[in-house]
Amino acid sequence: MQTKVAIIGAGPAGALLSHILDRAGVDNIVLERQSRSYVLERIRAGVLEWGTVETLREHGLADRLDVEGHVHDTINIAWRGTETLSVDTSEKIDRRMMAYGQTRIQEDLYAAADARGASIVFEASDVALHNVTTDSPYVTYRVNGTDERIDCEFIAGCDGFHGVSRQAIPESSRKEFEKVYPFGWLGILSETPPLPILLYVNHERGFGLCSMRNPMLSRYYVQAPITDSVDDWSDDRFWSELVGRLPSEHADQLVTGPSIEKSLAPLRSYVCEPMRHGNMFLAGDAAHIVPPTGAKGLNLAVSDVRYLSRAFIQHYQGDDSFLDSYSDMALRRVWGAVRFSWWLTTLLHRFPDQTAFDQRAQEQELSYLAASAAAQTALSEQYVGLPFE
Ligand SMILES: Cc1cc2nc3c(=O)[nH]c(=O)nc-3n(C[C@H](O)[C@H](O)[C@H](O)COP(=O)(O)OP(=O)(O)OC[C@H]3O[C@@H](n4cnc5c(N)ncnc54)[C@H](O)[C@@H]3O)c2cc1C
Repeated sequence: MQTKVAIIGAGPAGALLSHILDRAGVDNIVLERQSRSYVLERIRAGVLEWGTVETLREHGLADRLDVEGHVHDTINIAWRGTETLSVDTSEKIDRRMMAYGQTRIQEDLYAAADARGASIVFEASDVALHNVTTDSPYVTYRVNGTDERIDCEFIAGCDGFHGVSRQAIPESSRKEFEKVYPFGWLGILSETPPLPILLYVNHERGFGLCSMRNPMLSRYYVQAPITDSVDDWSDDRFWSELVGRLPSEHADQLVTGPSIEKSLAPLRSYVCEPMRHGNMFLAGDAAHIVPPTGAKGLNLAVSDVRYLSRAFIQHYQGDDSFLDSYSDMALRRVWGAVRFSWWLTTLLHRFPDQTAFDQRAQEQELSYLAASAAAQTALSEQYVGLPFE
């Protein structure tokens, strides 16, 4: 097979890139290791920066999002079990966020792919990248027991943190930055009405998060030891731990019920530099991951794709400047989000070696945030998302 851009991975980054390129008439083929239903069932992100919402709207992907998405404009943080700060981002910087599940975005992307007859090969195994530093790179893979090959001009590595694309950059040309946090997030999904606000919690017992997907679907998290297993956490244990970390006014409002999904996610910050090697370009989790605190992972995947799709489209119109600046430009925004996610994670979690002094220092920083308009503006700017270049 022959195409202009071979895209590895049909998660949000790969499927969105394919959608934008198809609309611009840039031929592409997507290879996905998993089945379509497996990708659609993954429960992940839920909070969209406004730039992400606008990007999806610009590309005709927001019909359902505009009906079902829940616009919200406050960042709420509780601490000491009694105090709560509420920052109104629309008042501070005139920008908002939207709660809309990644699962829904993935469904919208696949529905759009079906409508335009896009080329997505599911259950493609043994994907390998070849000749990436030449003008004739190619990708090999196996599907339905047959070996296949795609010759292309560019390869877009959108295959997530555990994908193969990043390995195409030799270790001598790759710089990796990593921080692994000594705890995880135990998350549950329940078909119960969510709290009316999205609430982050700093508590002596550990972090908590109350989040929403839609009026009858709630997503909650508690910080848990990464050595725990999901089986250690009955629904009753989860709810009582969450309630114990919330101020009573919110605990009283919490509607509990059986979980329909439960998972334990490790927390890690990771960046690979550069995001280009020859004619292979990385986008999304393939190049970087952030802890979910601050809700940046999916949003970064979308902003990378915004830059990369523009770079490919401009290339086919005779201008390589965005292709040449892609890695530096994407990394500027990535590091902004990586720093913010690290800061918010550090501020809101209980670390294993944390002393009473450290706990008080965290609480004081939250009290300062509650009192300072300047600090709230800085928080708002980064939370709703830095502007695109
Ligand atoms: C529990 C959890 C909560 C999260 N919450 C948030 C949040 O609130 N806000 C937010 O912005 N982000 C959040 N994230 C992060 C967000 O989900 C990711 O950043 C986002 O999915 C990145 O999209 P991607 O397309 O780059 O990577 P992925 O979604 O990982 O997609 C990569 C795709 O490539 C495929 N693939 C992998 N290897 C190969 C291969 N060798 N060949 C072919 N295909 C391959 C995979 O099957 C996958 O479909 C969360 C993540 C988790 C785990």
